[in-house]
Amino acid sequence: VKQAKLAGKPQVYKPDEAVAARRRFSIETELRRALEKDQLKLFYQPLINLKSGEVSGFEALARWTHEDRGEISPTEFIPVAEESGLILQLGRWAMDKASHTLADWDAQVGARLPVYVGVNLSAIQVARDNIADMVGESLRSSGIGGDRLTVELTESSIVQDPARAIRVFEALKALDATVAMDDFGTGYSSLAYLQRLPIDVLKIDRSFVSGMMKDSDSVAIVRAVLSLADALGMSTTAEGIESVELATTLAALGCSSGQGFYFAKPLEASAALDYWKSRRKH
Ligand code: C2E
Ligand code: MG
Ligand code: MG
Ligand code: MG
Repeated sequence: VKQAKLAGKPQVYKPDEAVAARRRFSIETELRRALEKDQLKLFYQPLINLKSGEVSGFEALARWTHEDRGEISPTEFIPVAEESGLILQLGRWAMDKASHTLADWDAQVGARLPVYVGVNLSAIQVARDNIADMVGESLRSSGIGGDRLTVELTESSIVQDPARAIRVFEALKALDATVAMDDFGTGYSSLAYLQRLPIDVLKIDRSFVSGMMKDSDSVAIVRAVLSLADALGMSTTAEGIESVELATTLAALGCSSGQGFYFAKPLEASAALDYWKSRRKH
């Protein structure tokens, strides 16, 4: 079969593929080194309560400025980290860093800041790490309560081994964490899992949100997700709000919270705290 295939289709040298493979390989090597040298940063994007306008939390997002290549997007290095297994180390680092940042903010304002941090967990972590121990350890060492942590999981963490996912999600609930389903609507999971898993928040993917101003289908999908969430007693967060029109439309449709460049881009920890101060009502 292989021979026939080779005979029928001559192997062509594809420079683009070769370049991409080489880049992936060096990204892996350099990411390993960057993690060892603690060169990644964690940025914080505000999540806004669309009713009150106050900051309800921050999503922690990894940032990597490479010495020679400059800024490398997480959309590039997270998949490499997942393929290489480095995501276990990166994920632990992000969880630990985010909870300690929240504890630092508390110390700086001299009070318990009324915000949570959202930490992204990869499907690979769900499959291979002991997430409950890992999260529990960060909560203990930072001293923040589990009720101030939101874990963002994707549908891909469910499909491979649903029974394991249920155990992991329940262990996270036992730590008092809030469980959010990230990029909701873009994966392959069945709606039945919304019933079986302890999910508190649906995060509506940016692709649907940004489509709302252009096509009525996206509006219909967003409305459907909002009413599904409402019926199941879950709250909602819209990603990718880039205009005041989107913010007011989503608020009017009953979406509880949102994030996006209209409010703020992901910020360094100190700028994120300033942003929180600037939006508080009292
Ligand atoms: P995500 O978890 O869905 O995070 C939201 C992404 O949307 C972020 O991209 C954020 O910067 C971007 N975003 C937010 N508002 C807007 C907007 O108004 N317009 C546009 N164009 N984009 C907006 P980012 O930081 O590039 O991260 C991409 C993805 O990489 C994340 O998507 C997440 O899946 C992954 N990621 C980032 N940090 C981590 C991490 O520490 N661990 C894991 N497992 N994944 C991470
Ligand atoms: Mg996320
Ligand atoms: Mg998302
Ligand atoms: Mg996304």
